[in-house]
Amino acid sequence: SSDQTGMASSKVGQTDKTDTSSSVVSTNKTERPRVIIDQTGSISPLEDFRPGYLWVSDLTKQHWCEQQLLYSFTVPGVLVEDPVMTKGSNLHLQRELAVHDVVKVDITSSEDIWAVKMLNLLNSVQAFLNGSPLAREVPIFGAPFQEDVFVVGLIDELRFDLETYAIGLSELKTRLSRTKPSKSQEKQHRLQVMLYRKLFDDLVKGNVTKDVIARHLRLKLTKELGEGVQGELGKSGLSCKTLDSLLDVVFGRMAAVTCIVETSVEYVHQESGQSFLHQDVVYDEEELKKLYRHYLGFWRGQRAVEGVDIEDAWKCQRCDYKSVCEWREVKAAECARKNKLGRR
Ligand code: SF4
Repeated sequence: SSDQTGMASSKVGQTDKTDTSSSVVSTNKTERPRVIIDQTGSISPLEDFRPGYLWVSDLTKQHWCEQQLLYSFTVPGVLVEDPVMTKGSNLHLQRELAVHDVVKVDITSSEDIWAVKMLNLLNSVQAFLNGSPLAREVPIFGAPFQEDVFVVGLIDELRFDLETYAIGLSELKTRLSRTKPSKSQEKQHRLQVMLYRKLFDDLVKGNVTKDVIARHLRLKLTKELGEGVQGELGKSGLSCKTLDSLLDVVFGRMAAVTCIVETSVEYVHQESGQSFLHQDVVYDEEELKKLYRHYLGFWRGQRAVEGVDIEDAWKCQRCDYKSVCEWREVKAAECARKNKLGRR
């Protein structure tokens, strides 16, 4: 396939994106969740559930309801196919295939897996430098705000203005009906887009180091990459034999582009595939930093898990965990007490 400028572009297959997961958790309502927050701090949720790194989608789910996120790790359940989410994933794939082929490559080590991600990022940025205006499904990673936590994500779409060199980021969201998202959904999407922007800009500014990558991802940067990956690197004109030398190229190429100047969310009607709403996202680094650090408090086991506020209690009605949720029980009891006092 070819991109919009007719330049050949391909992408090496990776299947571990969680942002558009096609599955949801179906819970066994009769079992109580196991208690996992250990206030004495022996093991944190980060070590327990996400050793190595967090996904951007972990943080956006946490933004919706932290308690729900925790139950998704701790309440026994089975993964069932959700046709609505599957359709959304298919739409993402269709769009991705419109700009490049997906090529399968043999993987022999963790270093290979990460080399593939680096190559996909590199190819996206190189496509811009070669005059392409569009890149889709761009892997991104880093340790934002000098915190010792690594975060990984996949940007839906980056647009490159060939005259000004300005880069814009757009997140695709599919919706069953042509209705505006709720305020809570808007906030969640905004957090996602701001995190992507922060991760991308940090790479452009040289804020991500080899040491941080190697340490968090437990990679040996000097380990020789597998033949399949080396062959794929060769097709992109690279003779790198290790992640160490590939990272030199990635960092160099990222330094050649500019930070993201525009962020938006595009809402697409699922049935027709038609775009019906574009919303610009105002990026606020201080707000993002504050929110991010608050969320890390949970991941590090420094504070107890939080469920939704009373004003967001409507979220509980369609939550898979409502029959086992202790937070909901406590809040309901609090409300009942207040109502009783109010009637006196
Ligand atoms: Fe969160 Fe409500 Fe679900 Fe509990 S029932 S996990 S508070 S959304």
